[in-house]
Amino acid sequence: MTPRWARLQRAAAERGIDALIVTPGADLRYLTGYDAKPLERLTAFLVPASGDPLLVVPELERSAAVASGVDLEIVAWAETDDPFTLVADRLAGAARIAVDDHMWGIRLLTLQDRLPSTAFTPAGELIAPLRAIKQPDEVAALREAAAAIDRVHARMGDWLRPGRTEREVGADIARAIVAEGHVRVDFVIVGSGPNGASPHHEVSERVIGVGDPVVVDIGGTMPSGYCSDSTRNYVAGGAAPAAYVDAYAVLLAAQEAQRAYARAGVTAESIDEVGRTILRNSGYGDLFIHRTGHGIGLETHEEPYIVAGNRTVLEPGMAFSIEPGFYLDGHYGARIEDIVVATDTGLDVLNQTPRDLLILD
Ligand code: ZN
Ligand code: ZN
Ligand code: ZN
Repeated sequence: MTPRWARLQRAAAERGIDALIVTPGADLRYLTGYDAKPLERLTAFLVPASGDPLLVVPELERSAAVASGVDLEIVAWAETDDPFTLVADRLAGAARIAVDDHMWGIRLLTLQDRLPSTAFTPAGELIAPLRAIKQPDEVAALREAAAAIDRVHARMGDWLRPGRTEREVGADIARAIVAEGHVRVDFVIVGSGPNGASPHHEVSERVIGVGDPVVVDIGGTMPSGYCSDSTRNYVAGGAAPAAYVDAYAVLLAAQEAQRAYARAGVTAESIDEVGRTILRNSGYGDLFIHRTGHGIGLETHEEPYIVAGNRTVLEPGMAFSIEPGFYLDGHYGARIEDIVVATDTGLDVLNQTPRDLLILD
């Protein structure tokens, strides 16, 4: 099988980029399989536009790099060596170098200092399009992640009860995220009543009241490195406000319409518009204050972004969230979120738990 970095070399050559430098993070894991620690000591994957790539690691990380199974030349620098001199020597003469989007500022500044006649550009433009289209093994990994987070949502009735704080419920959810197969909890949002109106609220000491709508948006990372992310809406012990129930019905219709519409061949922005039009026509347009969704893979948020202005045409294998919402300041909020994969005929919807407002008692 062609290694992923070989496809990257082709893209770099087409754009007149002489080399790429990728430091620890999702790009490095995607390209090499090495989940390197983001240490202060420099680890860098150097990919020339032609020829063999090279993995530069601190000596004390060499065995970890080898153990990860990377099939690459590894050059280790000793504790008192200057790794930037090593990198600059290897890449001397490169007119244009692309660096990963998450490289630390101090590293780029040091590289610019050592290679004063080199122009630096973002490597995300080259790597993100590769990462956006998931291969079958990646779709399988995302499906496992979705099933794991679905099992957590399915147990919500065990924890979400009036009289408990958001923080208490959140702690139970976090334990379950790991118990159901994730290696890491990435976020736990339990937004009860007015806290639901803040899309990225996490948890607080607020005591959940009878009839409060509660937004639960949760996700984690699996051993594969692939992420989960799903939002469902609950009412603990009693009836939600009538105006909320009305708005929820429109939100559900909007999210269903987006799932029915989305497929390979349509633009990212048109999916957003399908849902936004339905909310707008019922008078909730101003309450839908964020984009419809984001790509997902080795990071929770990556390309493609499902947002007005993104004319990217979806391709089979693109994985992303569909998560419209409404947020009424001081009162409540709601969001319905599924992870989906575009196919030629429609969507492969990875999350399977019910999307209705779930009354727990
Ligand atoms: Zn978000
Ligand atoms: Zn999301
Ligand atoms: Zn989410």
